[in-house]
Amino acid sequence: EQEVMAWRAEKEVAVQGPANFKPILQFMEAGIPDYLMGTVTAAGYVTPTTIQSQSWPIALSGADMQGIARTGSGKTLAFVLPSIIHIMAQPDLRPGDGPVAVILAPTRELAKQVQEVAEQFGKPCGVNTVAVYGGADKRAQIGALERGAHIVVACPGRLLDLIQSGRTNLHRTTFLILDEADRMLDMGFEPQIRKIVGQIRQDRQTLMFSATWPKEIQKLASDFMKTPTQIFIGNQE
Ligand code: ADP
Ligand code: MG
Repeated sequence: EQEVMAWRAEKEVAVQGPANFKPILQFMEAGIPDYLMGTVTAAGYVTPTTIQSQSWPIALSGADMQGIARTGSGKTLAFVLPSIIHIMAQPDLRPGDGPVAVILAPTRELAKQVQEVAEQFGKPCGVNTVAVYGGADKRAQIGALERGAHIVVACPGRLLDLIQSGRTNLHRTTFLILDEADRMLDMGFEPQIRKIVGQIRQDRQTLMFSATWPKEIQKLASDFMKTPTQIFIGNQE
């Protein structure tokens, strides 16, 4: 207990909410399955970053959570590993199934970056990821969706377009992540985000990440999540 408090003080971590679990300080303690540990080791990662230490036990417990931490703090893996573990515990995709995990991101560049990380860790264990974003050929994205994607990393406008034209569906989606939620709102994606989230079952698990914590984000969080646990890193409260 005191160790946890000392760690949180040193790392400037504040946790609020029902799933206030202690951080995991070593990859070995995290309960990360063997099918992922090989890739973690191959990537040369020695210890989890602060946001990873504190997010994994909460996300892996099935709780909704939001992480507020600056850029470069390792948020991608904080949600990509729990996404893959969630997917590996589900029955595999059948033809016509949409994604099990949906990750929303504000820009094409970011969607591609997240897709690369999801593929790096997912591919070795058979988890397929596709990125969908505007300003690029739709046919390739549709083809990848038809072949079966466990994870879709998407900019909101293009994903909504593909749903509305029947190219994919969110009937099987049980894991939702909003990455850089503050930037998505700044870019005016709130209507599209609300339409997408409205199609996903209520008993999903939802994770939200952002660098800042303005009123608009707090509203979105309370609309999309059930008593989320909040992680603030670096005096962002
Ligand atoms: P954020 O989304 O918070 O801006 P990223 O997820 O993009 O941060 O990660 C920033 C960098 O840190 C990336 O280059 C990534 O490869 C690296 N990284 C992530 N996790 C670890 C770790 N546990 N140990 C070392 N480097 C890491
Ligand atoms: Mg990021």
